[in-house]
Formats: sequence, C-alpha cells, structure tokens
Amino acid sequence: MMTPAQIAVSQYLVERGLAYVNRRRETLRFRGNLMCLFGDVPVEITISDWDFIRYPHIRVIERPACLDGVQAHLSALNGLCYFTPGSVLLNRHDPVAAVGQCLAQATVVLNELARDSTYRQGEFIREYLANWDAGQQPPPIPVVKGSIADKTTHMNVTFAEGGEFPFAMFGDDVDQLRSIVVSTGRTLRDRGNNSGWVFHTDRWPPMSEAFPRTVYDLFTWAKAWDPNMYQALQDRLGYDRAYLNMPILFLMIRSPAGWLGLTFDLGDRSQRILGMRKATNYRQRLHRHSREITVTRLSVLDWSPEFVYARNLGLEQKNLFGKRITLIGGGAIGSHVAKALVQMGAGQGKHGRLRIVDHDTMEGGNVSRNLLGYPSLFKFKATELVAELRRLHPTANVEEEVGDVLKVDALFRDDLVIDATGEEALSEAINVRHLTAGVSACPVLYVRIYGQGDAVQALWVDSGRKGACFACLRKNDPQSQREPRFRIGKTDEPQWVMRGCQAVTPYAVSAPMHAAAMASEMVADWLQGNVSPRLRFLERPNADVIHNKNQNPEPLPHCPVCSSPIQASKVG
Ligand SMILES: [Zn+2]
Repeated sequence: MMTPAQIAVSQYLVERGLAYVNRRRETLRFRGNLMCLFGDVPVEITISDWDFIRYPHIRVIERPACLDGVQAHLSALNGLCYFTPGSVLLNRHDPVAAVGQCLAQATVVLNELARDSTYRQGEFIREYLANWDAGQQPPPIPVVKGSIADKTTHMNVTFAEGGEFPFAMFGDDVDQLRSIVVSTGRTLRDRGNNSGWVFHTDRWPPMSEAFPRTVYDLFTWAKAWDPNMYQALQDRLGYDRAYLNMPILFLMIRSPAGWLGLTFDLGDRSQRILGMRKATNYRQRLHRHSREITVTRLSVLDWSPEFVYARNLGLEQKNLFGKRITLIGGGAIGSHVAKALVQMGAGQGKHGRLRIVDHDTMEGGNVSRNLLGYPSLFKFKATELVAELRRLHPTANVEEEVGDVLKVDALFRDDLVIDATGEEALSEAINVRHLTAGVSACPVLYVRIYGQGDAVQALWVDSGRKGACFACLRKNDPQSQREPRFRIGKTDEPQWVMRGCQAVTPYAVSAPMHAAAMASEMVADWLQGNVSPRLRFLERPNADVIHNKNQNPEPLPHCPVCSSPIQASKVG
C-alpha cells in the first residue's frame, strides 16, 4: 500500500514527465529529465525519508559533456549535492512542494555548474576538501592527524591497531598520538620519524579535471599548484635518503583548502637499496616509472587539540591554550566548570595546565549533581575528576591537588583562579589573600549557587583593584550587620549553598550547570580581553526571588579588604 504522501508525489512526478522505477517499502524511485538551460539531464530521484530530514537523493544518470571531470556538488558516483545537509527545512506537511523544491534547486545547481566557469571554480575551490574526499573513485583512505607545527617538514607516521579497523596517524609528537589512540582502546605502533613529509603552501589548489592517480599526475598537479612546493618535493626525493628505509611514502600538504594527504609505494627493498646510496638515482627511477606508480589519496581527519578545541569558539577566537588555571572545588559546580574549561582548551599548548584543588571525598549525596558518579565514592573528588578529564581529553594537562587551597603555594601566580566551592567563608579567605598578593596577582572568578538553585551568581575580581571585591558583596556600615548588598531572597536571610554540619542542601540539578555556563562565558570574555559585567546573576524562571541586574559594582567605601592599602605579602 502506498501512503497518501507517496501517491501524491507519484502523481506529481508523472505529471512532470518522470517515469516510475520502483518502490521498496518507504523508498520511491523515479527517473526522468531535468530541463536545464543547456539541455535535458537524465536523473534518478530516490525519496526514502518522508519526514524530509534527509533530502531526496538525486543522481545524474548520464553526465552531459559540459560536466565532465571532477565537479563541485557532483560526486564520483554522480550524486548531486543541491542543498547542504540541514541548510533548508523542507515542508514535510506538503511532500509535493518539498519534492518540487528539490528538483528546482537541482536544476539551478546544474545550470550554474555548466554555464558559469567562475561559479564552478569558486564552488570547486570552496568545496575542495569535500571533493577530495568524495569527488573521484577510488575513494581516499582515511588517516588521522595530530598536532603538526607550521615549520614541520618531517612527521611521525604511526599506526593505530586493535580496533575494528587499523588506521595511520601522523603528527609531530608520538606521545600525543599515543595518548589519543590509547584513549580509544587501541594501541599505537610507531614506525619512527622520516617516513612522512609535510609541505606547506598558502596557495589554493588548482582546479583539475581529476585528482592525482599516479606519481606522474602528482608531479604535474604539484607543479601547477605551487612551483616552490614541487621543488621542495623534488629536493627531498633527491637528497633525503632516510625515506627509502620505508616501503611507503606519506605526504601531507597544509593549504588554505585544508589538509590533503597522498601516499605511494616506494617499491621493494632491492629497488630502494640503490637510492640509499644515492637518492638522486632513485628519483630518476621514480620519474622514469612515474606513470606506473599508483598514488592513493588520503582523507585527513584532524584530531589535533588545535583543531578540536577551537571548534567551540571559532578558529579566529582565542582559547585556553597555554593558560595556567587553578580551579578550587571539584564539587557540583567545580566538576561542571572543569569540563567546560577543558573543552575550551585548558591544559593544552605549551605550559598549559589545569589544576583542581579539593580536599573532599565523594559522598552519596554528591552523585546526583557531580559530574562523577558511584565509581568515585570514598575517593578524593580532585583525583577522580582529573582521572575522568584525562580519560575524555587525553591530551589535556590536568593536575590534582588534594588538600587545603589556603596552603597552596603561589596560588595567584597562575593566569586565572576560579573559586567554585560555593563556601562563602572560604571565598572570603581567598579574597583576603588575593587582594594582599600584590598587583601582579591573577584575576579570581567566584561562582556560587543561591538557595535551592533559585539563582546563580558570579563575580570577577581583578588584582588591579578595579571594581568590587568579594567582601564588597556585603554591606559594611555598622547598622547593617554585613547584610547582602544585592539581595536575592525576598523574605529569608540569603542562604548560599554550603555544607553545614554535613547537611547538603538539596537544589535543582540545573543550578550547577547554569553556574558553570556563567563561569565559562566570563572566561571567554576574559580571553577576548574584557570581562564586563563583572557581577552576573541568573535566576531560575519560576523562582520567587528578587531580580538583580548584571553590573560592574564599585568597591564599597571602607570595605575591610579592598579599601585598605595594598600590602606586599608572602601569600602570592
Ligand atoms: Zn572590597
């Protein structure tokens, strides 16, 4: 039985002159011509998703001459990419209109490809990587890339084994590659340095009718692309004898289009032995046989921290690479803050380090809101959190410090300290030490939860004494008895969540996530160079609390901490 949608779409396609091919369960297939400006193009349309989450598949049955060769939007198997997946919402309530829209767009794309060589070239270049990965048979072999620096010429070539399929991994640092691979449950086989070459070019690759299939193609293509790169390749083939120790040569090219990889066989040992004495002899041989030696494309999956941890922020924006951060508290708030920091790149890059300070062990009452769970009970939160972060983010440099934060040496010589304990007395103590640690002390971010998760609050305090300090959040005149300066509760005394007499205040599971989200937004602002507003509030929508505006509060006159003169201190 055809569904009403299938019947309606079938009638529509027949009216448009397409012919029914077959129907298998949900899938309906028709063939016919798309009327393009340059003539009719025979296509096959396959509709299998009637929710139209995946667009109907349109395949060009026979390519017209004007669309020969590697093309943007047209895969090696003639699949036509007419909408970028997810870019257009088709009307699932009107399947005829949805299918009509797809056929119309397919016609537009084919017309543009055939007619406009500028468009064609622009699209081809823009989609170079996508074409590299899908535009020509045979498909490329996927390989994984770790960190590769701008100056790298020789990369390590390693192989990940033990999973469902083995794969090659390239990078500057074997230890980094190993930590990534081990985290996926595989082992790493290291083939040593010198078996892979890296080339860098700032030119866009040339538009070509086909990607390289032989060493001859590779040389022609590289020469047309960037003569300097071609020359560098020839130089290494002629003078870099070490590559002949290996039977296979791997090449990686960093270009504005992204990373492209290629590989070819260097022949058996008897052929290479000649080159080991004089590589120019081997190079001559390679040129002589260049049309016979097959080149395989590599599709590069970038797993490097530089790529992975830039994704949240946009490649242009700054991340936490190279920053030294201390997070105080590995509890409900702290554990979520820690996760967010690591995902922003904390613990990556040269000297980058995230330190988590907590003296507490995991208790049953923590399980429902800490990032950690049952396996961590009876264990130190800091230790467990660090282990969990390392498991998820193996290249991050994360350290634990089990103990009292007030005894941590040189605390404020990091780049940033975040107090996520939510214990006001401890925050007061940290604040006193912070503001007496001298002007070079790093900023401190305080983040806490009010009441039963009714609100969260964060305060940014700079060492340069710009704005209010943590103690400025309570009034200081004799009558007010250190009442809160920014009231949140309407009736009761404000109650900041803490562990009084081992009692854990129950609160919404969302509260620590809101607190962590707020903290990570302020950290992102810090990376951009300006944290403002420095005091932020977020109330739960249905909470019966006073709404406070985000603001940059001035220091309170006669604040017991920040209005006294700056003292030199041993603390920082
Ligand atoms: Zn103050």
